[in-house]
Amino acid sequence: MIVEIDKGSGFCFGVVNAISSAERELKNTDTLYCLGDIVHNSLEVERLEALGLRTIDHAEFARLEGKKVLLRAHGEPPSTYETAERNRIQIVDATCPVVLQLQKKIHRCYQETRGSRTQIVIYGKKGHAEVNGLVGQTDGTAIVVEKIDDLDRLDFSRNISLFSQTTKSLDGFRTIVAEIEKRLEAGVQFDYHDTICRQVANRLPNIQKFALAHDWVYFVAGKKSSNGRMLFEECRKANSHSQFISSEEEITEPLAKEVKCVGVCGATSTPKWLMEKIAEKIRRING
Ligand code: SF4
Repeated sequence: MIVEIDKGSGFCFGVVNAISSAERELKNTDTLYCLGDIVHNSLEVERLEALGLRTIDHAEFARLEGKKVLLRAHGEPPSTYETAERNRIQIVDATCPVVLQLQKKIHRCYQETRGSRTQIVIYGKKGHAEVNGLVGQTDGTAIVVEKIDDLDRLDFSRNISLFSQTTKSLDGFRTIVAEIEKRLEAGVQFDYHDTICRQVANRLPNIQKFALAHDWVYFVAGKKSSNGRMLFEECRKANSHSQFISSEEEITEPLAKEVKCVGVCGATSTPKWLMEKIAEKIRRING
């Protein structure tokens, strides 16, 4: 049986940077706080926690004083930096440079259009940490849309500036753009900015190709990863013999004799070491 790991799967550079920052800091300190999961993969979080990383939420963050806190790749709204300054918290800022650029772009748009009737719209997942960081650039005024129905909340007689969360699908973004164009009243200005990160967008065609090239596919991701769920759906569409797993313990049975070629792939939050462990288990159990 051939077992192959997808070279295009695994952490994006934003997550790699954040983890490297945490590892670097943890060499010199016993405890480093991280605001939210550094990556949506519980096994990687556990590995870093064993080195001294402590994951906290915003409520705990607000109570901290004089500690060192890492901000993960998703980024944070301005209010987080204000809290840090008030509480003498030292920030280790691992916000992904791509997200940082997007935050600045939205902030600029907000400043330039403030006082006009322009609506800033963000295509993204409500409540997602990155989206909260983006909405924060507009003093909380941006409207978040996840699906077509959410567009009912827009006023199509007013100008619209649309941005996207970096990890959304290009197809979904195009559908939203087309629908806004359809509903817009004459003479209204509509600017849209494709701010989708290609580190993620390019994974989609790659995962479909990879899934098609194998008899059986194990897709590895944490249960909390939205990118993982989205990519797995694409994987399954391309090859119905695809299974979502989060750890090697979930592989308990050997595969059917006809399966000759097995692929192991994953999300942007899936560590390489975990895919390697899983490949080893597949070889062992089917040996
Ligand atoms: S997906 Fe792209 S924008 Fe998001 S953290 Fe990774 S590299 Fe940065």
